[in-house]
Amino acid sequence: MSHAQVSENALRVINRLHNAGYEAYLVGGCVRDLLLGRVPKDFDVATNAYPEQVEQLFRNCRLIGRRFRLAHVRFGREIVEVATFRGNHSEAGIGEDGRIMRDNVYGGTLEEDAWRRDFTVNALYYNVYDSTVIDHTGGLDDLQAGILRLMGDPAQRYREDPVRMLRAVRFAAKLGFRIHPESEAPLAELGVLLENVPPARLFEEILKLFMGGYAVQTYHLLRHYGLFKYLFPQTEVALEHERGTPSLLLQALANTDARIAEDKPVTPAFLFAALLWEPLRLLAEDLRAQEREMGEIQALQVAGEMVVARQVKRIALPKRFSVPMREIWAMQPRLRQRSGKRPLRLLEHPRFRAAYDFLLLRAAAGEQDLQELCDWWTALQGAEGGERQTMTSRMPPETKTRRRRRRKPAPVKREE
Ligand code: ATP
Ligand code: MG
Repeated sequence: MSHAQVSENALRVINRLHNAGYEAYLVGGCVRDLLLGRVPKDFDVATNAYPEQVEQLFRNCRLIGRRFRLAHVRFGREIVEVATFRGNHSEAGIGEDGRIMRDNVYGGTLEEDAWRRDFTVNALYYNVYDSTVIDHTGGLDDLQAGILRLMGDPAQRYREDPVRMLRAVRFAAKLGFRIHPESEAPLAELGVLLENVPPARLFEEILKLFMGGYAVQTYHLLRHYGLFKYLFPQTEVALEHERGTPSLLLQALANTDARIAEDKPVTPAFLFAALLWEPLRLLAEDLRAQEREMGEIQALQVAGEMVVARQVKRIALPKRFSVPMREIWAMQPRLRQRSGKRPLRLLEHPRFRAAYDFLLLRAAAGEQDLQELCDWWTALQGAEGGERQTMTSRMPPETKTRRRRRRKPAPVKREE
């Protein structure tokens, strides 16, 4: 492992702790990834300094977390996370008195700190002063063998923190590792515990699962281990309806992976729009079958509200993502209108590009009769002003025949 790949800022943090008389090591994902020849996503530091002591050493430092306080040292956009060694006391049963909790938990040795982590390959420490890796848990062997092994009694460790199940899947997908049979066995039975995880924490975890560059593989593993249904229950049910068509969700996940590989931006709004599209579409169809008066626009809106209301009970979705997500959905039926001033106005809509991309995705996933519409919008975007006028003044025959009496669309509600 060479220092060249270690973040300068992480080295700065370690040096300052060291100069103040504390121990400090790189730990966790960065050590694992560097040993595998990968580029770490971020750098974590473990130290015997207490959070308050860390805070005193850095101006750009903030203490976060309630149960376990961590220090975040910020350098522009990079954050180095500094965690104090913790003892191997069970995390369960802690939580009445903050003071007692802290005395019980902090003040462990490096070895104790290693054992309270999740997987052996995440419990490796790197000493930058003598370039050695400290391995108390057999992490190096597991790294070599490509094995994810949860330390301790796996069922108990998943019970302590069910998110570890998602982390197992995430690392298996990202690293191409096998989950050790003993760590794998409890997943089927304990998946239901994900229902107890706070929705806000699951949202953070979902972003890591699906925006880490390995979304397709992650998705397959989540379904394989029966965990997906606890995250997106409505989507799971809708997918069972699927009859061999390549699904929109898989397309979206593959596109997300490709965009991340090319360093292009991805947004949770688009991702969630795709994750919830199948249940939304089926529910909108049902609504229209029950109520003949209901138009496509209204059905999608009502269904959207219902699907979102159920989903946010599991996974929080901040407004800054749910609002654009619903705009992407709401624009789908509007993209069918090709004549008059509307298409040109839609082109100016801040969400047009996302809605158009979503339309392309629907076509690629085999939704009926959309390819020609996609081509039309592609052409319209490439056209000059005069050409655009001609394109939108021509009334395509299907618009004429399908035209119904216009109903006033219900106002779009902004809250869920
Ligand atoms: P990534 O590449 O996603 O950053 P990571 O392994 O660094 O992977 P982090 O979430 O950054 O994951 O956590 C840093 C380290 O903290 C982990 O490597 C692990 O040692 C420990 N850790 C994190 N979450 C848990 C948990 N839920 N239970 C036990 N240990 C954990
Ligand atoms: Mg990390």
